Amino acid sequence: MPIDATQAYDDGNIFAKILRGEIPSTKVYEDEWACAFEDINPQAAVHTLVVPKGRYVSWDDFSASASAEEIAGFVRAVGTVAREKGLVEPGYRLLANTGGHAGQEVPHLHVHIFGGEPLGRMIGG
Ligand code: 5GP
Repeated sequence: MPIDATQAYDDGNIFAKILRGEIPSTKVYEDEWACAFEDINPQAAVHTLVVPKGRYVSWDDFSASASAEEIAGFVRAVGTVAREKGLVEPGYRLLANTGGHAGQEVPHLHVHIFGGEPLGRMIGG
């Protein structure tokens, strides 16, 4: 079931558990503001998720309520992960599903990084 992007933050969500180290993940990057790990069900040759360390449900929540430092830290982390994975020259795609129509399933903001192969045009059917 997709989540409601305006719902209250739930500390029991799966990415909160990954951030607290309560469940395993293949972590590829971590700093003060963000953590990145491989998606458990990859949709492309490279499919990495980047999450902010703060308690934000969605892109809507984060863009409205996060501090300038948190936003800068998170955006820089997404760019760093893509760069460290060698995706800049071949190209990559970012995706942040937000709420019902986008099918967001995990209620902790995450940006998907897709790459490692040609991705086609825009969104799937
Ligand atoms: P959404 O649809 O919310 O944008 O994407 C959620 C993503 O989280 C999906 O691509 C899904 O495969 C991934 N995911 C769900 N549970 C886990 C998990 O326990 N570990 C990892 N690494 N990824 C997960």
